[in-house]
Amino acid sequence: MCYSIPGKVIAIKENIVSVDYFGEDKKAKNDFFTLKLGDYVYAQGGFVVQKISEREALPVLESWKELFVKLQEADLKLSQNPKTLYQRANYIRNKYLGNACCIHGIIEFSNYCRSDCLYCGIRKSNTVLKRYRMEPEEIVKTAVDAVKTLGFKALVLQSGEDTWYDDDKLVEIVKKIREKAAVLLVLSIGERGIKTYQKLYDAGARGALLRFETSNPALYEKMRPAHKLAERVELLKELREMGYLTMTGFLIGTPGQTDEDIQNDIKLTASLGTDMFSFGPFIPHPGTPLGKNSAPGLDRVLSVIANTRLSYPEAKILVTTAMETLDKENGMKFGLLSGGNSLMVNLTPAQYQRLYDIYPDRAGVAEDVVQRINSAIKLLYSLGRAPADLGL
Ligand code: SAH
Repeated sequence: MCYSIPGKVIAIKENIVSVDYFGEDKKAKNDFFTLKLGDYVYAQGGFVVQKISEREALPVLESWKELFVKLQEADLKLSQNPKTLYQRANYIRNKYLGNACCIHGIIEFSNYCRSDCLYCGIRKSNTVLKRYRMEPEEIVKTAVDAVKTLGFKALVLQSGEDTWYDDDKLVEIVKKIREKAAVLLVLSIGERGIKTYQKLYDAGARGALLRFETSNPALYEKMRPAHKLAERVELLKELREMGYLTMTGFLIGTPGQTDEDIQNDIKLTASLGTDMFSFGPFIPHPGTPLGKNSAPGLDRVLSVIANTRLSYPEAKILVTTAMETLDKENGMKFGLLSGGNSLMVNLTPAQYQRLYDIYPDRAGVAEDVVQRINSAIKLLYSLGRAPADLGL
């Protein structure tokens, strides 16, 4: 199985190529391959991750052709004649970005954290939580299997702020995965020095997922004791300058957050030139100081997704798993129907999943990986979405 569709290179301008997917043209950055017009590639997250031969590409394209058109038609049907805010956002998403939907896998490799964020269940003060760390070889194996066996083309490696993984360990992990598998590697390891990120870039990582959590400096300092918003924002800017695709965003419904904060959160995400908006609901965790607060309602979160889509028609907007926790039945679906066009599938090995307890009742932890992938694909198809690249 494969969660991306190969495309044909139809234009090249320095390290930016245009890739054709059945008549749709998407741009992608190419750092790793020598490409010429007519070559076939897989791109994910706006990044060329693999070059394949025509002999390999044609049968895959043939198998997709009919389904691709059917999905396009289904999406078009579902997104026309908008009336509500959510429907307008869905219409705009279809108009500007078509039915492509990125699917990234996420591997949560350690729940040790030196930070003490008030909202987060893996904060260092939560002494009740059993901690785990995956060995570097285990991380590499999980990632390589995700690419080779499960067909992923983009993987997020996420952890608490765990300095047990020093620069050498992280570099080794990234290098080994990149040697063995064609994949866009996205790091979500929190605040590390710029030198560390540079080494990881040189080792082959190309994406960084780092939410700024809130654009309100006072709220930020309250939620993330001993941290400064300006430092996190500066790091995001530097990562982007270094060449990383950046994914950032904020929590919706954090106690103390105002409507104005949310407007500013959306603006800050956009002004950072983010390649993917990542925001999701705050879910109270009983083992944290915010445990007695409430999660926002689904409508509040959907309206943030929809308003973001209307303000930034070409944004790539992730529908996070926390949406599913908020509403198991409809969270993901409504997110995708309100302007969202990207999702993540949790590939953390089963024995660790429950322990990566950033918030309680994480959706999907009871299912095995294949079940989770199948439900994601089923959902996408039911909405007429294709796992093609969204482009740059
Ligand atoms: N250490 C990394 C990864 C943190 S966990 C970093 O600092 O970026 C990933 C994300 O989970 C966080 O950015 C935060 O937005 C989210 N998260 C943490 N606690 C949460 C909660 N209670 N509800 C919803 N999301 C939460």
